[in-house]
Amino acid sequence: MYEMRAESTVGRGELIWHVIRKDVAPSALCGRFLAQVSPTALLAQIEAAAERYCPSCMTAFSSAVRSHGR
Ligand SMILES: [Zn+2]
Repeated sequence: MYEMRAESTVGRGELIWHVIRKDVAPSALCGRFLAQVSPTALLAQIEAAAERYCPSCMTAFSSAVRSHGR
């Protein structure tokens, strides 16, 4: 089960979206550990921040989906 999780980069006004695998570990596919962010704090940050996706997570996610097959 995959899930998107946003991480705010302190001081840069950016939100980075990582992909986490919930059944394995609370860390992102790129190896980053993501602390729990409260929804309220996250919403406030989203309004102020630019958003982008973590390229490492996107790469890992697409190859994981591909290797899963159908
Ligand atoms: Zn990532």
